[in-house]
Parts: sequence; structure tokens; C-alpha cells
Amino acid sequence: MSLPPLKRVLLKLSGEVLMGSQPFGIDTDFVGQMAEELKAARDTGLELCLVIGGGNIFRGMAGAAKGMDRAQADYMGMLATIMNALAMQSALEKIGVETRVQSAIQMDEVCEPVIRRRAERHLQKGRVVIFAAGVGAPYFTTDSGAALRAAEMKCDALFKGTSVDGVYDDDPKKNASAKRYETVDYDTVLADNLKVMDASAVALCRDNAIPIVVFSIRERGNLARVLAGQGTQTIVTK
Ligand code: UDP
Repeated sequence: MSLPPLKRVLLKLSGEVLMGSQPFGIDTDFVGQMAEELKAARDTGLELCLVIGGGNIFRGMAGAAKGMDRAQADYMGMLATIMNALAMQSALEKIGVETRVQSAIQMDEVCEPVIRRRAERHLQKGRVVIFAAGVGAPYFTTDSGAALRAAEMKCDALFKGTSVDGVYDDDPKKNASAKRYETVDYDTVLADNLKVMDASAVALCRDNAIPIVVFSIRERGNLARVLAGQGTQTIVTK
């Protein structure tokens, strides 16, 4: 299965990607390396939207497990995603890539609010748009934020960069004979509870016919390969 021609894509990175080899937080060297890869993608003429998680700093579920109010903890998680977005913006602008951060939680001194039509203009001008704070509501994740923005911005595909090179029928870290799917349909992902993105994000992609490409972002150069339809990946489609 091949993807449709790609003019505009959304790339979702989990917050953990930004840790690089560190146990927590932001590895600026690694973020710099990621920025170079994003620049290369943008320089091919691709319109690039970006969503970054916050798990390298704070996850609402972890706070709730320690007794915090869940919604309050989720807002802290959303703030973490804004910090990551600013770190990536800084790395991109350092190498000459114009970038705008749009946050679902308004923070006028720091970034723009999410305004779809303004984001359109940014993309047309070759700017990378980083959408922060997920959907702006607790009890969601940045996967849902990524699916929502991909639908809203009419992206041709959602690329999910993780630490594994695709979707497996079992946990490849625990089961050496786990099989990687080349392609898998949305309904199988949902019915078998395969680890792709959370169910609401997968359902939103399904309902809007947005292919999800799951690949490993940790290997240098892999982003360019998967955008070119090469490399190891799993495509989730109908
Ligand atoms: N979050 C939220 N609503 C959203 C997006 C994120 O409440 O729309 C919170 C939630 O607590 C989540 C945290 O922000 O745990 C960080 O996001 P996520 O877990 O998706 O980050 P990732 O796993 O991708 O690093």
C-alpha cells in the first residue's frame, strides 16, 4: 500500500523523543538533530504541522496516580507540551526555519492561539506550525490533538514518530516472534487494541480517512525515508 501524494503532513512526536538519551526533560542536542531533519523535510516543499507530547516532563495520569486531581494534572501535562513546542521552535529558528507555535490554551505573551485560517497562511509561507496543548481539554492526549489538527488542517497523512519501527501484533520487546504489520486497518487496531495511538485518535483518523504512518524517529534520516515512502513503517488505513 502506498500513501497518497504528500503535500501537507502532520508529524506527531511523543515528548519522550525529546529526551534523547537523557532520563527526563529536553536533550537540546537531540532536539537540534530533529530540527535538522524537519528542515530537510520542509525544504522538499512539504507543508509541515507538528504536535509534540509532554511525557518527558509531565503526564496527567502519573500525577493522578499520586493523588492529584486528574483534570488539574492534565492541565500541567498540557503546559509541558507548550514547553516542548517552544524548545523545538527555538531549535528550528536557530537553523533558519520560520516557525509558529499555536496553543490550544491561550498564552498571548508566548505563542499564538490556535486559529486555523492563520495556520493555513503560515503553512503556505513555508513556516512550520507547531500545535501545542493538545485539544486544550483534560482527559485527552496529544495523540487526539494530533488527529484533530491533522483533520482540521486537511493533512494528507499523520506520521507518528515513536521508538518502535511500526505496529506489531504483540509487544516486540517481550515477544521475539511478534510480527510487524506492513499495513493494518483502523478497525483491527481498535478491536485488537494495538499500540498505535489512543482509541479516540485512531477513530478520528478513521472517520476522516487520514492514514497513520507509524515509524521509528530515533534512527537518524528515518523521517526522510518514510516521507519518501521507503524505510520500515506500518501504515494504518481503511
Ligand atoms: N493532555 C491533556 N489534554 C490534551 C493533551 C494532553 O490533558 O489534549 C495532558 C495529559 O495529561 C497528557 C499530557 O498532557 O498526559 C502530555 O501529553 P501526552 O501524554 O499525550 O504526551 P506524550 O505521551 O505524547 O509525550
